[in-house]
Amino acid sequence: ENRQLIVTFQSLTELKRVEALRSDFIANASHELRTPLASLLGFIDTLLGPAARDTAAREKFLGIMRGQAERMSKLIDDLLSLSRIEMHQHVRPTGSIELAGLLREVREGLMTQAKAADIEIRLDLFAGPSSTTGDRGQLYEVFENLLDNAIKYGRNGTDVEVTAALAPSGNMLLVNVRDYGVGIPSEHLPRLTERFYRVDAARSREMGGTGLGLAIVKHIVNRHRGKLMVESTENKGTTFKILLPVE
Ligand code: ADP
Repeated sequence: ENRQLIVTFQSLTELKRVEALRSDFIANASHELRTPLASLLGFIDTLLGPAARDTAAREKFLGIMRGQAERMSKLIDDLLSLSRIEMHQHVRPTGSIELAGLLREVREGLMTQAKAADIEIRLDLFAGPSSTTGDRGQLYEVFENLLDNAIKYGRNGTDVEVTAALAPSGNMLLVNVRDYGVGIPSEHLPRLTERFYRVDAARSREMGGTGLGLAIVKHIVNRHRGKLMVESTENKGTTFKILLPVE
């Protein structure tokens, strides 16, 4: 009689870690939604009760309520965007995208915000071809998020510079988005792309930030087999660098 025994080992550490991350994420998302919702409910009660006949208060409160509702809406947009990107994480994008044109478009789309902050967005784009293989909507989102941050965390009256060129290796395109703003203390740099990670949560919320922008950027860049890097000096400014494969 010949008996055999097969023993298999499986580490559950990674599985547990993923599970913990997921429940963390849900707790964070719920908290982010609950705060503006609580404020909305508070103002509704005030408008129904003590301020029912106060026209000036009504106008002011409705303005604040609109801001809170917009924040919730932006958060839901970002959450959906993140989940869509994750769903397609392992599907290679197929479009042929000309980055120079895309960057000009993103700049155009942010002109109002830039003007409001008295910031000039300067472009210095590719001398040669700038095509990459990608998903146009997603790449738009990458540069929109980076430029939006550069405006939000830049200093009023300074420039935001976008420089793009063929990387020295010759097989990647390099786009730098540079601002001259608050900068990021170095101890925060490694965690910046985590969901809901913020250097200054109050400031981010006040600027209409969700804390998801860089998480979205990182996911999209990974899907495109690119690379995201950041260099920053406190009170001097920040440069985000994106590498994308040449088509
Ligand atoms: P948020 O919606 O808060 O801007 P992001 O994911 O886009 O979220 O960015 C995460 C955090 O990284 C921000 O809250 C901010 O603290 C920091 N950050 C991002 N971009 C910049 C920048 N250009 N300058 C300084 N800090 C930045």
